[in-house]
Amino acid sequence: MNIFFDVDDTLITWDVRLRPGVADVFDRLRADGHILYLWSGYGPRWEVVRRFALEAHVEDCFWKPLYNHHARLVELGVPFIPDYVVDDHAEIVRVFGGTLVVPAGTPFFDDQEMWRAYAEIVSFAATATR
Ligand SMILES: [Mg+2]
Repeated sequence: MNIFFDVDDTLITWDVRLRPGVADVFDRLRADGHILYLWSGYGPRWEVVRRFALEAHVEDCFWKPLYNHHARLVELGVPFIPDYVVDDHAEIVRVFGGTLVVPAGTPFFDDQEMWRAYAEIVSFAATATR
């Protein structure tokens, strides 16, 4: 699947910390055959990819449409419709299908949200190919 991850409050915290499990989950998802993209309402976030050394995992970065979602994919240069999204905004998950995550809480290092998302993706991929 082409899986699109939101950035702020999904992969990184408000104070720009990488959420626990991101690199390991990305590694696992790629091993499972998925292609990973980041998108954000603030534009392509290559600075986040570079800052946290995620280059090997992330195929591309895009603008995320915040309204009129499907119509704006073309306008924003997103070349296809995501198969699955991971986002902290319910609307994006409702429109494209995927997993809603909550921002990392405290204690930060106990945050398991990326692994929960991974389990959801594994389960979705299993039913999608059936
Ligand atoms: Mg967000």
